[in-house]
Amino acid sequence: MPAETPFIADVMLGRLATWLRLLGCDVEYFPKISDDDLVERASRSGRVILTRDTELIRRRKVRDIHFLVRGNSYRDQLRQVAEHFSIVPSSRILTRCLRCNEKLEDIDRSEVRDKVPSYVFETQPNFRTCNRCGRVYWRGTHHDKSLAEIRGIFRPQDDLGPEE
Ligand SMILES: [Zn+2]
Repeated sequence: MPAETPFIADVMLGRLATWLRLLGCDVEYFPKISDDDLVERASRSGRVILTRDTELIRRRKVRDIHFLVRGNSYRDQLRQVAEHFSIVPSSRILTRCLRCNEKLEDIDRSEVRDKVPSYVFETQPNFRTCNRCGRVYWRGTHHDKSLAEIRGIFRPQDDLGPEE
């Protein structure tokens, strides 16, 4: 498997999809997609289907392009997927929009002045944006909380860099 396997998550795995995006993974997710559309989309775009559906994976078209996710908590699921696909938690954190899966682009500070709270604007040197939804990201509270959560999910030897 290449390091950057693109995924599509089934309707039951929304939370896992968001967390994988946080780690920088390319994960499509549609809350209301039918199984047929999911399979069609996956095989057309070369994505691995992440699913918990043991019926779905019996389909002939799904057999070779799925990964069966076990575990009820998103923490267990995230750990399992990261381990299987050799996803390094630290390498691409916050490089992708959590809402639309788009890769984030650097944006000049001057362009976000009206889009973020003023204390954020005053204290943060770098910003990124999603060109699809326009959401602005920065290494603020959200980022710190997410890092702490990820530290808790993965083993201590997974180096996540120095604490900030
Ligand atoms: Zn977005």
